Amino acid sequence: LRQTLIKSEKLQAVEQMGAAISHEIRNPLTAAMGFVQLLKENNLPRLKQKEYLSIIKEELASAEQVIQDYLTFSKPSLETIERLNVKQELNQVINILKPTANQNSVEIITNFEMVGSIEGDRQKFHQCFLNVLKNAIESMPRGGQLFVETQYHKSQLTILVRDTGVGMTIDQLERLGEPYYSTKGSKGTGLGMMVVYSIVKAMNGAILCESEIGVGTVFKFTFPTVPLSNNIV
Ligand code: ADP
Ligand code: MG
Repeated sequence: LRQTLIKSEKLQAVEQMGAAISHEIRNPLTAAMGFVQLLKENNLPRLKQKEYLSIIKEELASAEQVIQDYLTFSKPSLETIERLNVKQELNQVINILKPTANQNSVEIITNFEMVGSIEGDRQKFHQCFLNVLKNAIESMPRGGQLFVETQYHKSQLTILVRDTGVGMTIDQLERLGEPYYSTKGSKGTGLGMMVVYSIVKAMNGAILCESEIGVGTVFKFTFPTVPLSNNIV
């Protein structure tokens, strides 16, 4: 059973994103603070101390995850539109993720067709594909293959990201990009795809996703390219 869905028009609520995210960060920080307070008590048994410290560590890690999904490489208020060499930018993102991929026995296979440039904010482009590729790697807990390809046709650039992971049901596919929607329990934030949709939309791009449980997932991104006559390369 193959599921297809186009969702370039999701997310009118991007404006609320900043507020929502600071809320998401504040919760674990407040929790951590509470346990730091408890740790200050005298005569706390060693075992309790250890327990509190591990809770604090978890809460801080969860705050950090929110920041990673949302802002690792981006400065949301500063938007600079540049001409992006897609092959070069994707390779940079892949290099960042190589250690994680290796750890998870995921082989990354690229095939970049000669492409022109697209326009966008470099850091946001990185953030977008970092989130997509990270999800792909996380969908293959027992290893697999991650294909990243580009195709160039007329005035359109296509970026294909395909994994051999767990796949998604139609329900999961429909909820993709919904704030805080995650199937990863405490390890997920459900913010990654929301950020992806908002960045792609801002770049006048579109996302198509096909998935099959137990087989894998393909994300197809299309972006308008900069007219050839304007190409410096
Ligand atoms: P998170 O990764 O924190 O769970 P995301 O917004 O990045 O949040 O992703 C939301 C959900 O979409 C994931 O929890 C997962 O269920 C699903 N998902 C995203 N990408 C994939 C993929 N490549 N394969 C399978 N499921 C995916
Ligand atoms: Mg994610």
